[in-house]
Amino acid sequence: RRIAEADSVAVIGLGRFGSSLALELMASGTEVLGIDNHEELVQSLNGELTQVVRADATKPEVLAQLALDEFDRVVVAIGNDVSASILTCSVLLNMKSPVIWAKAVNDQHGLILEQLGVQHVIYPEKDMGRRVAHLVRGAALDYIEVAKGYALVKAPVPGIFQGVALGATDLRKTHRVTVAAFQHGDQPWTNADNATVLVEGDTILIVGATADAEAFAQLR
Ligand code: ADP
Repeated sequence: RRIAEADSVAVIGLGRFGSSLALELMASGTEVLGIDNHEELVQSLNGELTQVVRADATKPEVLAQLALDEFDRVVVAIGNDVSASILTCSVLLNMKSPVIWAKAVNDQHGLILEQLGVQHVIYPEKDMGRRVAHLVRGAALDYIEVAKGYALVKAPVPGIFQGVALGATDLRKTHRVTVAAFQHGDQPWTNADNATVLVEGDTILIVGATADAEAFAQLR
């Protein structure tokens, strides 16, 4: 029994990062083949993913047998065992077809993966550490730097922008940010427009250069 359709994803390494990623893919309707060489992990995810296989991903014959070349996307979520991560990526790259997303535990590991030709190298711990720094230091409720120097920030609406239509404020000029969306109480998030009037307790989504968006989130 194989699941190897264009829309499915193979996740190799079902540790904390890989299993969380695999379960989130399942929750959003993507079929997932999970692979790990650790029996307990395979057992615990059995039934939670479309298919879970206990196998050593560094072995070319194993990955060929699982038809990984028929997948469009493969995530290599092996981190701590750097050599297993590198070997697995190397085998996958030889199989040519899938686009590889691989987790790196540090810059050196990431550099090697990039040199091998891995298309997407991700640094979950480094990225999360940087992101949490912005949450810890400021008033932001959530923070995502979508590109270098450009961010989305979720924050309470500052007092000076309450009770007035956004279109009547000059905040794009004076604060160089856009209020993209807002939430009133526990109502659904709504796109903001010129007629939007925010009130105390509303939460807003601010878009702008990182420094500007964060400065706006600090306003009272
Ligand atoms: P995390 O920090 O996300 O828990 P780890 O690097 O600790 O990440 O775990 C990665 C997972 O990859 C582990 O569950 C481990 O059993 C698995 N793994 C390591 N080497 C291999 C391999 N050669 N083949 C398959 N799975 C592997």
